[in-house]
Amino acid sequence: MASVSTALHAYRLWIGGAWEDAASGATLQSENPMTGEAWASIPDADAEDVDRAVAAARAAFTDPAWAGLTPSARGVLLLRLADIIEEHAPELGAVETRDNGKLLKEMAAQAKALARWYRFFGGLADKIEGQVTAIDQPTVFNYTLREPVGVIAAIAPWNSPLLLATWKLAPALAAGNTMVVKPSEFTSASILELMPLFEHAGFPPGVVNVVTGTGGRCGAALTSHPGIDRIAFTGGPETAIAIARSAAERLIPATFELGGKSANIVFEDAQLEAAEAGVLAGIFAASGQTCIAGSRLLVQRSIQAEFVARIVARARAIRLGDPTDPETQMGPAANPAQLEKIKSFVADAVADGATIAAGGGVPRDPALAGGLFHEPTVLTGVRPEMRIAQEEVFGPVLAVIDFEDEADAVRIANDTRYGLAAGVWTLDVKRAHRMARALRAGTVWVNTYRAVAPMSPFGGSGMSGHGRESGLEAIREVTQVKSVWIELSDTVQDPFTLRL
Ligand code: NAD
Repeated sequence: MASVSTALHAYRLWIGGAWEDAASGATLQSENPMTGEAWASIPDADAEDVDRAVAAARAAFTDPAWAGLTPSARGVLLLRLADIIEEHAPELGAVETRDNGKLLKEMAAQAKALARWYRFFGGLADKIEGQVTAIDQPTVFNYTLREPVGVIAAIAPWNSPLLLATWKLAPALAAGNTMVVKPSEFTSASILELMPLFEHAGFPPGVVNVVTGTGGRCGAALTSHPGIDRIAFTGGPETAIAIARSAAERLIPATFELGGKSANIVFEDAQLEAAEAGVLAGIFAASGQTCIAGSRLLVQRSIQAEFVARIVARARAIRLGDPTDPETQMGPAANPAQLEKIKSFVADAVADGATIAAGGGVPRDPALAGGLFHEPTVLTGVRPEMRIAQEEVFGPVLAVIDFEDEADAVRIANDTRYGLAAGVWTLDVKRAHRMARALRAGTVWVNTYRAVAPMSPFGGSGMSGHGRESGLEAIREVTQVKSVWIELSDTVQDPFTLRL
């Protein structure tokens, strides 16, 4: 990210339903990871701009244009937005690929799938209910109201900008909150492209606002702003800790969706062809730049040689190239720092005693020289205590560890500070359920991997964060419960004792 003054596609902040420049006039440039060329400029917003965005969201929260809408009317806005997004999915996907280098076929499919989240939560908008309490005081009527929390700050990373922002936007808006979104400085364009679609769907000005800029300045100004009532964050653990400290200062709640070191566990009784596809999907899809990457392959010793040979052969055959080419299977890393991080993890693993069985470095093909490519890499001889088995790479690097039996697999799988996801490959139905219970992970996939849906809650534990997005759980995160007491009798209470 460098300051830029050349004539690029100039994006602007979206505040109170209008396009604005940063008050300072500063901009950053967005680069295409395939070519290394800058293609857009985005405002480099600071605390002053964040102030305006939070004020717009605060005003919208109580404005009758939004607060006065019936829940069904809010739902209709979300449903309308879903239809409009589907029409624009190809353009939205293309912008994301230009910004983060992930395959166009994946980003276009993700853009189209946003509609499913807006439809699911649009349908829920008028089903967010309190309840009548079966209170044991006969003259009291007690019930609960489930109300929006207020202004929510949504912070998103660069790997799936629209999808991860949507996981925050759709439930929060369904419940009547207003939002200030801060996308990654590497991938701010797509969320800005989404704003006219919100307007077109009929969302009042100020309900959704977007500020762009660096994490340290714009992001920190947002998450520490006194006008924010809740934070929804997706990103790395170090950033999450900084944000949690700032949230603690004001005692506001926060949801953290962080990284992982997820285990893909293959038992000797698995359907090996399906497991092979699941292991590849887990680590080489999106060049391994997904929070749910199955970056540890735990394989039962009895099939290790055969199974690893299959994975190595498939890894070597992966077609690297231009992410907009439908034949490409793996694109570049999203930014130069990410590529350097991947290289340093591989070097450390080798120094720790791991063996490179496939890939291991930057490809030599001259056609790939302009892009930030790293070869699909398989490391064998990995021991659970090595850095490569404990820390998230966020790149196409698979660490292979063997295990003896089920207990051994559970022990190794749970032996990291993360707890986001796990895959289990077995045809033994009893083992499948035992493993699902024993694994410390927010999501367990059995005989599949890398699947998500608006109906199914998603999140982690430990250093993978806390709180849940998607599913009915997401509504609980963006609402608060009020208990209402109504005395039905004319009795006058003793003013000096608590009524119990
Ligand atoms: P990051 O933590 O560097 O940045 C995430 C966002 O936080 C960006 O918008 C950034 O500008 C902002 N930010 C940075 N410092 C900040 C600060 N001090 N205050 C407020 N905001 C700040 O993460 P990244 O490199 O963009 O993304 C990669 C990470 O995201 C990986 O660790 C990955 O596992 C994680 N991730 C998690 C999920 C999930 O759902 N669990 C999904 C995708 C990515």
